[in-house]
Amino acid sequence: MEIRICPFGPLQANLYVIVFGTDAFIVDPCVPLESLELDGLKVRGIFCTHAHYDHIVEAENIRNATGSILLAYEAECPVILDSRKNISSHSFAPVTVLPPICALKDGDILKPADFAMKGTDDFTITVLHTPGHTGGSMCLLFEEKTDEGVNRCLFSGDTIFAGTVGRTDLGGSMPDMLRSVQKISNLPDDVRIFPGHGPATAVLAEKSGNPYFTALKYNDII
Ligand SMILES: [Zn+2]
Repeated sequence: MEIRICPFGPLQANLYVIVFGTDAFIVDPCVPLESLELDGLKVRGIFCTHAHYDHIVEAENIRNATGSILLAYEAECPVILDSRKNISSHSFAPVTVLPPICALKDGDILKPADFAMKGTDDFTITVLHTPGHTGGSMCLLFEEKTDEGVNRCLFSGDTIFAGTVGRTDLGGSMPDMLRSVQKISNLPDDVRIFPGHGPATAVLAEKSGNPYFTALKYNDII
């Protein structure tokens, strides 16, 4: 699993390209296709961690150009499809995304065969519903078996950033966010975290340095 990080736009949202051989997945389609060097990679799936326009602005273009499918958490799909709800209608150009979007559920485990990928069966993608930033935010846990062990990478959207969490005043909820922090803190310490903005981190680093994680030790905040 190779991970390419492509920040873009005034808000520097991160698009991720996750490469397995000649196949790839995209997380958060926010970069124009011509700015991505896909090198002939076959894009098998385009995941939207949540509906905010800075993360989905190129979803339709990239889907059409690659012939891939769009995937999002089930509760977030109607928000992605509505430019008033995805808050893009407040910007210069409302973002239009058309159906279909593949609706995911909490705990779904996706395998290479689900994307018609042949010749590899050594990774899974687990869907974690992590509301808080938005009601239908999700994180995606990629787990790949290697000779050295299991390589685990969490794509956290705007739920978790290095040292903090995402805003909860754009359609979200702080109690939900704290429950989502708890859920992520229960993942193995060696899970690397790739947020929707800013640098990568890891579960262990957040458990020791992120105040929203360390506060979990002090009872009754949830
Ligand atoms: Zn957002």
